[in-house]
Amino acid sequence: MIKPFMPQLVYIEPRALEYPLGKKLHDKFQQLGVEIRKTTSHNQVRDIPGENHLQKYRNAKSTLAIGLRKTLKFDTSKPSAEYAIPLATGCMGHCHYCYLQTTMGSKPYIRTYVNVEEIFDAADKYMEERSPEPTRFEASCTSDIVGIDHLTHSLKQTIEHIGKTKHGLLRFVTKFHHVDHLLDAEHNGKTRFRFSVNDDYVIKFFEPGTSRLEQRIEAARKVAEADYPLGFIVAPIYLHDNWKEGYEELFKKLDQHIPEKARKNLTFELIQHRFTKPAKRVIAENYPMTKLELDEEKRKYKWGRYGIGKYVYQNDEQEDIKETFQTYIDRYFPEAQIEYFT
Ligand code: SF4
Repeated sequence: MIKPFMPQLVYIEPRALEYPLGKKLHDKFQQLGVEIRKTTSHNQVRDIPGENHLQKYRNAKSTLAIGLRKTLKFDTSKPSAEYAIPLATGCMGHCHYCYLQTTMGSKPYIRTYVNVEEIFDAADKYMEERSPEPTRFEASCTSDIVGIDHLTHSLKQTIEHIGKTKHGLLRFVTKFHHVDHLLDAEHNGKTRFRFSVNDDYVIKFFEPGTSRLEQRIEAARKVAEADYPLGFIVAPIYLHDNWKEGYEELFKKLDQHIPEKARKNLTFELIQHRFTKPAKRVIAENYPMTKLELDEEKRKYKWGRYGIGKYVYQNDEQEDIKETFQTYIDRYFPEAQIEYFT
């Protein structure tokens, strides 16, 4: 049973105490007896305990830094949204393939930003610029935001903020089932609540520290009952022995539990497993015993931005994945929409 995330060590920027959320978090952790250290910047936390890389990495994943988001220029977030809304960075999960391992480099600790009103002001400006076109914000580009939100409620506030706007839409994805506090948020149908799902093999071997599939599906059912538009991201789609059976089993389980009312407006996003050379090095360092197959020879090289290409499946394998998933989605969720395969 995955318990809701609770940090073992907290860092806080003194200025964060000037914000209601900063004060609330500080008082909460103080009451709980969690060690709180001061830091000049959430970007500068350097003294996480541990005698070697692995210990430091593990400890960082249970460390929370509370600070202010200074850059209020949002990154773009294709293909699923126009902008990434920055509420947190980092994740307590231990998925072996996670892209955060490379993007966060030497700072794998979790950061939460307490100047939420300033972040909302920036979001409002982006919406104004694009009005009357809708603007979609992705809240989980740099973290699993649901995994931390039971502590901060900043995602809940964002859902309600976007719920009141005319042209805003919000989306995020999670592998955690701690969703109860979000069920009564006034989302007004403007938030698409997505769950990242996979077959038993991938979850068992590569996704430690996250909620099990049954828990995610039960959370998805609750979210659907709360009238959120629902979506599933199957990522990474990973080819292993009997992958076709494994993934059909996944769709059968979803089919058994997802209520009828969520099916018309249901989306699927399909992302094949990929890796880069730098990611392969980092994975070997952080998860030295992983079974994850990262053999460049077996993959197709796809040129990427900034000269860092990635290794994806061969063309015939990609075709097989697309066809197989199309068949399963047609069979179990004929009204759902596949947003993309990448
Ligand atoms: Fe990365 Fe998502 Fe796993 Fe967290 S839950 S470690 S963000 S893949």
